[in-house]
Amino acid sequence: MAGRGYVGRFAPSPTGPLHAGSLVAALASWLDARAHGGRWLLRIEDVDTPRTVAGVDQTIVQQLSACGLHPDAPPVWQSQRTALYRAALEQLMAQGLAYACSCSRKDIEIALAAQGHTRTRHAELVYPGSCRLGLSHPLARASAWRLRTDVPLAPQGQLPGGSANITWNDRRLGPQAQDVAQAVGDFVLQRADGCWTYQLVVVVDDAAQGISHVVRGQDLADNTARQIWLQRCLGLPVPQYFHTPLVLGADGAKLSKQNGAQALDLSSPLQALNAAAAVLGWPAQTGPVPQALAAWTALVAAHGGSPVAPWLPPSP
Ligand SMILES: [Zn+2]
Repeated sequence: MAGRGYVGRFAPSPTGPLHAGSLVAALASWLDARAHGGRWLLRIEDVDTPRTVAGVDQTIVQQLSACGLHPDAPPVWQSQRTALYRAALEQLMAQGLAYACSCSRKDIEIALAAQGHTRTRHAELVYPGSCRLGLSHPLARASAWRLRTDVPLAPQGQLPGGSANITWNDRRLGPQAQDVAQAVGDFVLQRADGCWTYQLVVVVDDAAQGISHVVRGQDLADNTARQIWLQRCLGLPVPQYFHTPLVLGADGAKLSKQNGAQALDLSSPLQALNAAAAVLGWPAQTGPVPQALAAWTALVAAHGGSPVAPWLPPSP
């Protein structure tokens, strides 16, 4: 057990109310924190401003409260923390690890074609480093800021060594590896429209909030290597990662706000919690809610401190 050093968090984007899938991640992170005797924080990830829906943050706070999932400190809003993100970007610029890029998608396609390949990843193009290599047009348009993934870190003795070939041990998925330079290339920290990217804000806030354990949906697992690389570049500690099973919709795709997942029906919070607990492999409880949460916490603690039951088969 991690004891009093444990700090966990739930970090929803206010693009829609919580649905059955997001409650699974919320419950898993809450149970993990409680079973470890740790603290549990709530962070509203509202930096992707075009997709943020006004008022949804308050809905999420109320939904969690109705489910008995109360954070141990007042929630923080990422939209109020831009000075932290700016400072991190400036640190990376000063280290020569971040550079401006004004490539359009078309520019990147052309550059990749010139190299004889069209490497794509989840429909994202692997950035070939054109602006870092001085191969692109002058920076006439508004620029994004990208992080270098081609440098072995060790320059001034201040940074840990190693390349962006990242390995880590996910508490549920086991040993993981990704060569970030090969898989995604130099990735964006701040978009040309000024929005901060998920990678940067999560890394900065996890460190600023002292997060020791990240428990989140498996759809986010693919970001972990990029975040560990960024943590190394910024000299920040690397939390432990646990990625939860996903709730799939009728079409087999991950249930999400984007594919029309219904907002949680909180006429019966216990029913919503029982459905979420079932995804994690835990038996239904009869309530009331605080008693159900205490029963699941005891089960997690009794079964190795994993918020997913050991008898649950691994997700594909
Ligand atoms: Zn570029």
